[in-house]
Order: sequence, then structure tokens, then C-alpha cells
Amino acid sequence: MSIEKQISIIKNEIKDKADLVAVSKTRTVEEIQKAYNSGQLKFGENRVQEIVDKQSKLPNNIEWHMIGHLQKNKVKYIAKFINLIHSVDRISLAKEIDKHAKKENRRIDCLIQLKISKEESKFGLQIEDFKKFYESLKNYKNLNIIGLMGMASFTDDNELIDKEFKKIKTIYDDMVLIDSEFKVLSIGMSDDYDIALENGSNMIRVGSKIFGKRNY
Ligand SMILES: *Cc1c(COP(=O)(O)O)cnc(C)c1O
Repeated sequence: MSIEKQISIIKNEIKDKADLVAVSKTRTVEEIQKAYNSGQLKFGENRVQEIVDKQSKLPNNIEWHMIGHLQKNKVKYIAKFINLIHSVDRISLAKEIDKHAKKENRRIDCLIQLKISKEESKFGLQIEDFKKFYESLKNYKNLNIIGLMGMASFTDDNELIDKEFKKIKTIYDDMVLIDSEFKVLSIGMSDDYDIALENGSNMIRVGSKIFGKRNY
């Protein structure tokens, strides 16, 4: 099925409950252009070199989201144009984003990535460290924390996925009450966004369901 068709199916499913970030990692500029032509404006990438390259070749009104593990020394390449960084999970990274945002004379919107699955390979901040981490980010005025991101376990066990999303939703709900900037809960990917939407997701990150299976 075509990229345009898939996007329209997904948008129809989510209605106005959530924003759709089209995850375009490994995809060509031409494929992204197709999605853009059908009205899609938010795109997510997980590698700095790729996002910088694509940003320079595609229309200026695209919103670029950094969704993957971000190395400190690469923040400078994206600080000028990035719309939302989903993967803030350590102080050293926050400090670097703040520094480059200041240089660019802007505030950069960010999400704190929480580790909600028990899988070894996933990045993200441990839930028990969240409160302290959040408090220490207050020093960084050019970093604007607007919500949370999480990735559920890669599994067919829907109950486990549901449990993991509920964990992050509870923390998100607490934060909304105390921080007026909090407005984004980024949970849900191709295989689990239905469960994420049931759990209050308002931003889903969908790649393979739009563009087809990735070949790395
Ligand atoms: C690749 C990726 C996605 C999209 O995954 P799909 O299963 O292709 O929808 C979402 N979020 C993050 C952080 C990713 O790295």
C-alpha cells in the first residue's frame, strides 16, 4: 500500500487524540517527500547525520524530531533546527542541549525518555531516578521539558505492554498537575500504538507501518 494511503489510515484511527510522527529513519528523501505531499509535517529520525542531511534537502516547514539515543558531541549539529528531542535521559546531555540552544538564541523543546521496559538494550532514565533528574533540569533555562517518551517491550504480550504504558501515564498525569509546560506523552509505535492510545498517548511515532519494513 502507498505511503499516502497508510498515513491517511493511521490519521483516521487516531483522529485528533494524538499527533503522528512519521519515523523516516533509513528512508530516502523521495519517500519523505511523498509523505510530506500528503500533508505529513512531523518526521522522526534517530541518527544525527541522517537528520542533518535530510533537513537540508527537504521543505523548511517540516518539523524534525530526534527520537533516538543522542550523543553529546552531536547536539551542535541539530541545535539550530530541531523541533523536539524525545530522548533526554542524562544530565550531561541536557547540559549540552542547553548550551547549544543558548548559542542559537532559542529554547529547545525536549521530552524525558523513561525506561519502562525491563529489556536490557533500551535507553532511558530509570523511573526511580525521575524526580531528582527533573528537579536538576531546572538550571537549564534553554531546555524546555514538555513531556515524556517511553518505549514498551518488544513482545506479543499485550498485557505487559499495557502495564508499561500505564506506568509512564501515571507519572505524566502527576507532572501535568505541577508543570504547566507538560503536554506531550510520546508512546506508541507501529505495533503498539493502539495500546498506547488507550493509555492516553498524544504523540505516536510510526515508521514501518507507513513506509514498510526497514532494511538496515
Ligand atoms: C524506529 C523507532 C520507532 C518506529 O518504529 P516502528 O516499529 O517502525 O514504527 C519509534 N520510536 C523510536 C524511538 C524508534 O527508534
